[in-house]
Amino acid sequence: MMDTAISGLNDRRGALNPGRPKSPVISVVVPCFNEEEVILHTHKRLAAVLSDAGLDFEIIYVDDGSSDQTALYLRDIQEQSENIGVIRLSRNFGHQVAATAGLDYAGGDAVVLIDADLQDPPEMIPQMVEKWKEGYDVVYGVRTSREGESSFKLWTARAFYRLINTLSEVPLPLDAGDFRLIDRRAVGALRQMRERHRLLRAMTTWVGFHQTALPYERSKRFAGTSKYPLRKMIALALDGIVSFSVIPLRLISFVGLILSLLALVGIIYAVTARLMTDSWVPGWTLLFISSLMIGGLQFIFLGIMGEYIGRIYGEAKQRPLFLVLEVLGPQQFRDRQQS
Ligand code: UDP
Ligand code: MG
Repeated sequence: MMDTAISGLNDRRGALNPGRPKSPVISVVVPCFNEEEVILHTHKRLAAVLSDAGLDFEIIYVDDGSSDQTALYLRDIQEQSENIGVIRLSRNFGHQVAATAGLDYAGGDAVVLIDADLQDPPEMIPQMVEKWKEGYDVVYGVRTSREGESSFKLWTARAFYRLINTLSEVPLPLDAGDFRLIDRRAVGALRQMRERHRLLRAMTTWVGFHQTALPYERSKRFAGTSKYPLRKMIALALDGIVSFSVIPLRLISFVGLILSLLALVGIIYAVTARLMTDSWVPGWTLLFISSLMIGGLQFIFLGIMGEYIGRIYGEAKQRPLFLVLEVLGPQQFRDRQQS
């Protein structure tokens, strides 16, 4: 199963003495968007797994602007337990940003990102922690099977990873989602990456350190429906490509180059027709040549400018990634307000 992972990135042995704390605290970050049907169940199973494994843990639920009863349920969950924090965002910012908010607030020695719908089995977390104890900084779950998902979803997901891997500068492990454990130093690195268009799984790969894969079987959604319609999947794919690649911009220059080459053929043809044959229209040659040349050159210049503008555009937006409506939890959790 390990062959789904990328060589070079993978199975780099952890440091001999990773210096992991003796009794670590594990933060579990759960982004939730309209998950009223599952959230209580998820919490029960998650808390049970973590306590049974004898882990010292905190669970951070991020309510990503849900419009159903999710926030109410989270409030209840929080009130019943000391080690629960709830961050409510001011509106729906999307899965990736909600997870980022959770990472910002996580205080543990390692952070686990997990979906709220129980598609990622919480039972894998103790194994992730074991890998982390061996010295790995990022332990990412690799889906060996995906139960209960339409063949369309599977096909688009596969296309998504292949496309990103072709275009992107960072190799993205195939079939790895966001279910992963991240050591606090990698989390620290992620916190410094404030880009607006984010694909966390690619960003955690970019961070480097010691990474390893952990195969698991992805189950079907416990209840409720997917919050990732095709539109959001396409947006996510675009983020993955544009944030980690300038190939689309180069494509413009490439098209310009092809057009210029075609223009050259046209130019040769026009000049030959003018000099060697009798079939030419007076004044046509120069017009033909200049319009072809200008057209081609414009594309090249546009491409070059696009290259720069794309970079400036990415840097220029200094907006906060998310806004917090309220934070529920123990005082020391609420005091963690970061960034
Ligand atoms: N999610 C979120 N904000 C959104 C969409 C989704 O926080 O705008 C959460 C959702 O509650 C779930 C996780 O992200 O915990 C993954 O979403 P979903 O299960 O709908 O995606 P799928 O598994 O179908 O790809
Ligand atoms: Mg899901």
